[in-house]
Amino acid sequence: MYLEDTIAAIGTPVGEGGIGIIRVSGPDVPAIARRIVRRVNENGDFVSHRFYYGTVVDPESGDTVDEVMAVLMRAPRSFTREDVLEIQCHGGYLVARRVLDAVLQCGARPAEPGEFTRRAFLNGRIDLVQAEAVIDVIRSKTDVALNLAQHQREGRLSERLKAVQGCLRHSLALVEAFIDFPDDEVDPASRVEIEAKAREASGRIEELLEGFDEGRVLRDGVSVLIAGKPNVGKSSLLNTLLQEKRAIVTSVPGTTRDIIEEVVNVRGLPLRMLDTAGIRETEDVVEQEGVRLTLEKIPQADLILFVLDGSRPFDDDDRMILAALAERRVIVVTNKSDLPVTLRIPGELEGVRAVAISTATGAGIDDLRKAVFETFIHGRAIDSREYVALSQTRHRDALVKARGRIAVFFANLAAGNNLEILAVDLRDALDAVGEVTGETTPDDILELIFQRFCIGK
Ligand code: GDP
Repeated sequence: MYLEDTIAAIGTPVGEGGIGIIRVSGPDVPAIARRIVRRVNENGDFVSHRFYYGTVVDPESGDTVDEVMAVLMRAPRSFTREDVLEIQCHGGYLVARRVLDAVLQCGARPAEPGEFTRRAFLNGRIDLVQAEAVIDVIRSKTDVALNLAQHQREGRLSERLKAVQGCLRHSLALVEAFIDFPDDEVDPASRVEIEAKAREASGRIEELLEGFDEGRVLRDGVSVLIAGKPNVGKSSLLNTLLQEKRAIVTSVPGTTRDIIEEVVNVRGLPLRMLDTAGIRETEDVVEQEGVRLTLEKIPQADLILFVLDGSRPFDDDDRMILAALAERRVIVVTNKSDLPVTLRIPGELEGVRAVAISTATGAGIDDLRKAVFETFIHGRAIDSREYVALSQTRHRDALVKARGRIAVFFANLAAGNNLEILAVDLRDALDAVGEVTGETTPDDILELIFQRFCIGK
């Protein structure tokens, strides 16, 4: 019932632009195209995948709505595997809206967010991992995050998951064969094979799980807090990392009062920077608000850049911040290395990675980028074409579940438990992997996943 109607949406962002694209998908597409697309010097059926020049007309009055290019893609050679019509009109909210209205007047209904991609998934053109990657492609903030998403969209992660499923199915088929013939003992050769395939599945899952932390930070980014007392150079550092002047820089202590969030790209790792007011004890009400926010943010940050002024001694203000940093992942950044060094880093910070920089000269900034990068990424070739990683918590959780079921399977196998029990374990493991690829994902989860999409995707 879900796939029997025809859906339509504006696929381009709302606002003014060169072109606006209206997408239509479903069984009524050929009729809608015939009714509202008037092609220049063309009659008869639309040839699939041919671009036509013409106009869209109002289905009632026949009045011209806009000058367009239109293409009809017949099922199954389309994004949704259904008949799809795409109309390119002038970019502009009203004109695209009018073309969409003409389509809706012919009986299509407005698409829900992500519904085109959802149809592509339900019609089996892509699996759920690939569908989810579509939204990651759209949202990617760095080249590396984009490559990771593209590899997933192309099906490289799906291939790895299929290999896991292949092993589990192989193992399960053998177990089931012996269930069907209860008189037969499992012969040693088959037992070896059953074990080997389950072990291979487990190993492949383990490999994917190992890459998760990096995949996740590349996809979601990490939050980085620049902490330090006023005037040490926090705003200057943020600006240097952003490579453009956006935050306010001033020599009056404590003027960066608002929390500003910006995304900085460090070798492909997206950093969500939280620049805050300087931390220190103060009577100033607004200043205090900033201090409170900073202290609040410390536990939320994945990494804290603790900025010190290398030209001044370590003082009580620095010590107050230091006290709030216990148990946190910290890089000590001593700024103003262009000035004579007076600072002595206290013993508490021994063993904590420290980088000397000067935002004034740019010295040490690359070392700092490197230190930040290496805190999260450990030598994987993340920019290679072969880089495939798990990047979503949902996927990780399902694979952890699968790994758990395989462990139970081995325990039952070792205990000599009966074959039915072993088969259940393997089926559970398969179901858990299927939650990632979409074969066994519950409907409410699917609902949540596609809600994150934009309309028209
Ligand atoms: P914040 O209060 O910690 O955000 O510090 P700012 O970024 O506003 O910098 C405070 C003052 O220190 C400004 O006058 C900057 O020009 C100066 N400053 C920042 N970085 C450096 C540096 O590397 N060397 C020197 N000599 N001065 C710096």
